[in-house]
Amino acid sequence: KAFADCGFSSVLMNAIAKQSYEKPTPIQCQALPIALSGRDIIGIAKTGSGKTAAFILPMIVHIMDQPELKKDEGPIGVICAPTRELAHQIYLEAKKFAKQNGLRVSAIYGGMSKHDQLKELKAGCDVVVATPGRLIDMLKLKGLTMMRATYLVLDEADRMFDLGFEPQIRSIVGQIRPDRQTLLFSATMPRKVERLAREILTDPIRVTV
Ligand code: AMP
Repeated sequence: KAFADCGFSSVLMNAIAKQSYEKPTPIQCQALPIALSGRDIIGIAKTGSGKTAAFILPMIVHIMDQPELKKDEGPIGVICAPTRELAHQIYLEAKKFAKQNGLRVSAIYGGMSKHDQLKELKAGCDVVVATPGRLIDMLKLKGLTMMRATYLVLDEADRMFDLGFEPQIRSIVGQIRPDRQTLLFSATMPRKVERLAREILTDPIRVTV
């Protein structure tokens, strides 16, 4: 399998080539066609598998496919991760592919002042990468709206549960329209995560590496 089989735009193919990603990793081979077809995914994969690009690349395609790109109505892509460190890694990976497409990515996690974060969000963004607690804070402060969000990723769902973020995740998911595409990635699938997946995903396809 090759990236060229995914039907990516030349802009995206160039961005992939720039990263020296020669061919898709096993999780990418499995997840890319499914995510690109618009289906929900349960991905069982660990860090190091290339799972981040497996949900970022289809997200870029999803956003670029939107007929009207108004930059002042909140993000289209919303990615939740358990820790600042992981959120930052995802933010960096997202920026590699978003930039040439003219898409703006915002990171929302603790450590940065809420005031600065609100200011950045006010400038507009197409993608947010966030830890659940800080995303809830920003939603409460009306720093952003989920009105436009149609592509939701929950990364390392098992770790988010371990850290006690289940209520925050449920609150965030409840604020995103039900006709969204949802991708849930987790290294393990404990019963609680399985139950959440059953509740918030629509007819998901399971991919495992
Ligand atoms: P991840 O599992 O998403 O944290 O990715 C692990 C590392 O693999 C990151 O440094 C990525 O930039 C890199 N990576 C992702 N996809 C590919 C690929 N297809 N070929 C080579 N490296 C990749």
